[in-house]
Amino acid sequence: MPRVIHHQPDPAPAGGDAAPAPGEAVRDTFGRPLRDLRISVTDRCNFRCTYCMPRELFGADHAFLPQGALLTFEEITRVARIALQGGVRKIRLTGGEPLLRKQIETLVGMLAGLRTPEGAPPELTLTTNGTLLARKARALADAGLTRVTVSLDALDDALFERMSDSGVPVATILDGIEAAAAAGLAPVKVNMVVRRGMNDGQILPMARHFRGTGHTLRFIEYMDVGNTNGWRMDEVVTGAEIVRIIGAEFPLRPLQARYRGEVANRWAYADGAGEIGLITSVSQPFCGDCTRLRLSPEGRLFTCLFAEQGHDLRALLRAGADDAALAARLAGVWRARDDRYSERRGEAHRDHKIEMSYIGG
Ligand code: SAM
Ligand code: SF4
Ligand code: SF4
Repeated sequence: MPRVIHHQPDPAPAGGDAAPAPGEAVRDTFGRPLRDLRISVTDRCNFRCTYCMPRELFGADHAFLPQGALLTFEEITRVARIALQGGVRKIRLTGGEPLLRKQIETLVGMLAGLRTPEGAPPELTLTTNGTLLARKARALADAGLTRVTVSLDALDDALFERMSDSGVPVATILDGIEAAAAAGLAPVKVNMVVRRGMNDGQILPMARHFRGTGHTLRFIEYMDVGNTNGWRMDEVVTGAEIVRIIGAEFPLRPLQARYRGEVANRWAYADGAGEIGLITSVSQPFCGDCTRLRLSPEGRLFTCLFAEQGHDLRALLRAGADDAALAARLAGVWRARDDRYSERRGEAHRDHKIEMSYIGG
């Protein structure tokens, strides 16, 4: 029986780390610069997606983090400010469901007010299941959010309700997507996790629905994150297969990556109706270009989505550490980083991976 694991003991902090020179990206053991910070603001969610928070394991008696354990908006903003000095240029808010965190737009405003050493605001995005987006899109845009990614795994109501294990109709999510675009959070990215035998029959309906809308549909290979979803390789529908399925109805041509480390492989519809993206973390891992650091809701840093251990920052934050000490800790964690889980998938079994609903993808 799988277990939900949040609290593997953190390793002892590495000592003697110097903060990087302002504006200079700190690099890990493979020379990968720190560029992205993903901040999970809550471990709670109003969905129980079967591949992420199966209800048998995240039921009424599941112990979510208590409010006092969560980093405050001030603490999150302080970590983000220091991370910008260490090389971060993009910040993504996630969860759990980030729009469940009260006054999330206040945090967006605080983060949007930060500046990189070059004086630019960070690119600030958010990933959401979309249920509260129609209500919140305008406030988020006004607060300074740059863009939004909405997860949607099916257009068929019965299937969507089964996959999300919620009573929420697809129309609610589609309304959220339109509200986000209308508020200027465009282009909206729509993420669909494809699981064979579950929603692979929705690949074409989703492509047909979103082509020509200006929203970018991205297909995500089902991953073995966490310990609770019972992942099996034969449930993965590869990006190549998805391109074949869509290409048979709508001819596609590959697009060049816009920058090194771009996560999605992009394909354009030959008739000009926009593009799709493929996130092939299983069939074509991209660890070599992975520049992402993750901050958990209670202030632990994770250097990989598949990490078993985090590095606590909250104790330092709450003990009155100064910025230099926090910067040194952050740089030390990144410099020691040697993760490349997806490239080595299958070589070593891991029993204690963090859950996606905790760290946010
Ligand atoms: N609740 C928000 C949402 O669903 O967009 C944000 C957090 S959710 C963990 C972030 C993304 O991770 C979603 O797009 C979700 O579909 C994806 N995800 C969750 N479990 C996954 C898995 N096992 N494989 C691939 N993607 C997964
Ligand atoms: Fe919630 Fe997102 Fe996980 Fe679904 S994928 S259970 S919406 S955190
Ligand atoms: Fe990055 Fe870890 Fe994913 Fe590789 S497996 S791309 S290192 S998060």
